[in-house]
Parts: sequence; structure tokens; C-alpha cells
Amino acid sequence: MKAVQIVKPHELRLIDQEKPVPDEKNNVLVRVRATGICGSDIGIYQGTNAAATYPRVIGHEIVGQVDQLGPGVKSLKLGDRVIIDQVTSCGHCYACRKGRPNVCQNLQVRGVHIDGGYREFIAVPESDCYVIPDDLSMEDAVMIEPTTIAVHACGRAQIGFDDTVLVIGAGTLGASLLRILRLYSPRKLIMADIVPEKLEACLRDGATDVINSARDALVAAARDLTDGYGPTVVFDAAFFPGSFLTACQCAGNAGRVITMGFSVAPDEMNQFLITSKELDVRGSRLQNHKFQTVIDLIRQGKIDLRGVVSHRYPLTEAQAAFDFACTRDPSIRKIVLTMD
Ligand code: MN
Ligand code: ZN
Repeated sequence: MKAVQIVKPHELRLIDQEKPVPDEKNNVLVRVRATGICGSDIGIYQGTNAAATYPRVIGHEIVGQVDQLGPGVKSLKLGDRVIIDQVTSCGHCYACRKGRPNVCQNLQVRGVHIDGGYREFIAVPESDCYVIPDDLSMEDAVMIEPTTIAVHACGRAQIGFDDTVLVIGAGTLGASLLRILRLYSPRKLIMADIVPEKLEACLRDGATDVINSARDALVAAARDLTDGYGPTVVFDAAFFPGSFLTACQCAGNAGRVITMGFSVAPDEMNQFLITSKELDVRGSRLQNHKFQTVIDLIRQGKIDLRGVVSHRYPLTEAQAAFDFACTRDPSIRKIVLTMD
């Protein structure tokens, strides 16, 4: 079968691999139909993702059809259209025992630490497969994975109706956060970015206010929009140098700051900023069993993931897809690799 492997940073190769066979553990063989290209995939390709190991078949936004059933499969049948959970964990470390396998000590993420979905077939445990809604195309269903990340981050932030929320960064991640945050109907839902077109889209998609941080000072503008208090929840979905400090400066007393970036560049920080406001600084990584939640939200009509995918390439043209992805063209919302 065909697969796309990142041999080492900046070296992408179309390879021939043995087709996997379902076994006791990975008892479902899925014929992959569509796999998204995520910012983190571009990071692995460019060599800026500290978590990745090489060579690697990447891709963690994996949608396909059940092609073969191995031992003990009960909940799936041939032809079922599924999305695959990207998190695999050990089940016995402290984090796993606390119900947080997404930060397992022995975490193995598909497409990062173990091979992912840029290939024709993948064998996975039945419990990692989630049946997608009938009226959602397999390409559009790729967007379920980024949405799980947003649902998880909102859970980490413990959003309440009396919160005022600021999201720094209105890219793919920020847009996914907005899609989920508006379901909480917070008092304020403020989006900040430097691209006016993105901010206009945010206003159409449910933001109550936007800040153009290329034009206006972010901390002061965020305070002005929250009666001088400062947002009570701040998501850093931009991860530029200094963004963590900015997020902590924006946050109001007793607020939460949610970090989602993987940058290892140091940010200036001081204890007073956190202690004086008694901020909760919380990381949010991947997601923890959120696929069914997102699928239920789609079925209930609360979110609509159609129309987000902006570009499609066949798997065999992955090089062209990555070359284009690396341009960070503003027309990119989600690129999908397809396998027919
Ligand atoms: Mn992703
Ligand atoms: Zn574990």
C-alpha cells in the first residue's frame, strides 16, 4: 500500500508499505479515505515539532471506512465510516490513573510518535473508532479532530456563563475554539488577531467583539471591552514570542490562562503577575475522549463542520500539498489528503 513518510525534516517520500493485518489489539482495519494536514504536521515536516520522531508516516486527523474486522469486534461493521482517536496511552501511569491519557507518561500519538494516517490502510483498536454522522462527508469529518481539541481546551478552562473570554489568535485553532465557545454563551467572546479578514469572519461566526492587535494594544483593548476588569478566561491560540506573557497580562483577577502551544522559546514572566491575580495557568494538550462529544454536537445541530475544508490533494500529491501548506496562504482553512 502507498504511504507518505517524513524521512527527516524537509524530506517527504511516497513509499510502499506492507498492508497491516488486524490482530488482537489493533482489531479493526480501516481503509483511510481522508486525512487532514494540521499545523503540527507542518511542524513535523519542517522539523520544529519537538515531540516527533523520524522517519514517520504522519497525519492524525484520520477518517476512513471499516475494511476488515479482526478478533472480538462488536460495535462496528464492514463499511462503517469512522474517525480514529489519535491518542494512545499506557493505562497505568499517574496521568492515566487520573483519567488523563492525553498526557500519559508513555503517550504515543498517531502520526507523531507512531505511524499515522497518510496511508491507504491503518489497523487500530475498535475502541479508538468513532462512527461519523451519515450526512457528513469523510472530507468534512476530518474537522472533527480539531474540534475535539477545542472541546478539551474549553473543559480545561471551566467556562461559565458569567465568564468573559478572550482568544488570542483567530487561525484554524482559534476558529475551532470560537465554534465551541459560543455554545457556552459567555458574557463576552472576544477574538484577537492581526488579520482583518479573519476578525470579520469571527464576527459572523459568533464573536461578540474583536481586537485588531496590529492596530490596537491588546492588553488595554481587552480591558476596555470587559469594563476594566480583564477577560476571566484567556486562550493563547497564537503562540508568538511573548504571547504567554500577553495572555497573563490580559487576564483578570481569579482568571484562567490556557496555553496550547508547543514553542520552546522562553517567554518573559514574573511571579507577581500570576500571584497577584491568583491566575490559574493551565496547559491543554490534544484531547481526552472528546470524539463522541463532538459527534453528538454535530447530530444535535449545534455545530456545523461543513465548508471548512478549503483544499484537497490526492495522497500521491502530498509533496505539492505540503509545499502549498508551508506558504501559509491566507486562503487555507483546512487541507485534506484524499485516498480513492
Ligand atoms: Mn490536528
Ligand atoms: Zn499512561
